[in-house]
Amino acid sequence: MLKIAYSEVFRYQVPEKHRFPMQKYTMIPERLLKEGTITADNFFAPKLLSEEEILTTHTAEYWHKLKTQTLSVKEARPIGFEMTPELVTRGRYIAHATYECALFAKQFGVAMNVAGGTHHAFADHGEGFCVFNDVCIASNLLLSRGEASRILIVDLDVHQGNGNAAIMKEEPRVFVFSIHGAKNYPFRKQISDLDIELANDTGDAEYLQILGDTLPKLISDFQPDLIFYQSAVDVLATDKLGKLALTPEGCLARDEMVLTLAKDAQIPVAIVMGGGYSEDINDVVEAHCNTFRAAQRIFFNK
Ligand SMILES: [Zn+2]
Repeated sequence: MLKIAYSEVFRYQVPEKHRFPMQKYTMIPERLLKEGTITADNFFAPKLLSEEEILTTHTAEYWHKLKTQTLSVKEARPIGFEMTPELVTRGRYIAHATYECALFAKQFGVAMNVAGGTHHAFADHGEGFCVFNDVCIASNLLLSRGEASRILIVDLDVHQGNGNAAIMKEEPRVFVFSIHGAKNYPFRKQISDLDIELANDTGDAEYLQILGDTLPKLISDFQPDLIFYQSAVDVLATDKLGKLALTPEGCLARDEMVLTLAKDAQIPVAIVMGGGYSEDINDVVEAHCNTFRAAQRIFFNK
């Protein structure tokens, strides 16, 4: 069964002026339900991430400022959202959801978070619409609890997961792999275990070739026992921030490649969403829905 993390709290609306299209968190589950790709039984409501769990990854100082809403204007600005207690609580549920997805992936082969992939959050600060680093928190919890021993992060968001790279820099049990736009945010990049930078306007054929040349070898060399897949759709040509040129079909082929490789290698894969900023929100929602459809098809023949 495809387990999907979803909660009312994911639907928190940020002011209209923000460029981050939060409405996708409502539209994706609605569309998948309506078309029959999933039923209400697929959803699970994640728990709240505890303070102790936050501190596996984030500094006590940063957490204290989030908890007491005392980030300075200068510290809050790079995050890009107005800081509210609701936004912090939302982030805690989403991060725990990513951890729970990993556990469900171990049980069912795959599991998905309707949100998550907040890969620009560092241990001591947030930026780029990211407050907590859900994949790093989940990885640290899995490692410390003996629930995984070698984790591969496949981050195909068009923006480099600078937070992932920095947090996992000294952690040999987590391999951070990122394919991203060379000329895109973050302009000062961190060093992942493997970074592949793409030129502006890279299209389907070249993208899929690079992924196909890299990921199978990486899986066989690193031998992960769990994969986090950041399946962001800001690689689309229609994306306002992305600068690459993938079609929706190319984006789907990318998802299918990652999921098929994981399934064939019998490595559980937990999927988080990441970004998507096409002018038409329908392009974003449709491309994200394709990831869920692919997971149902590939893992459950649905
Ligand atoms: Zn992105």
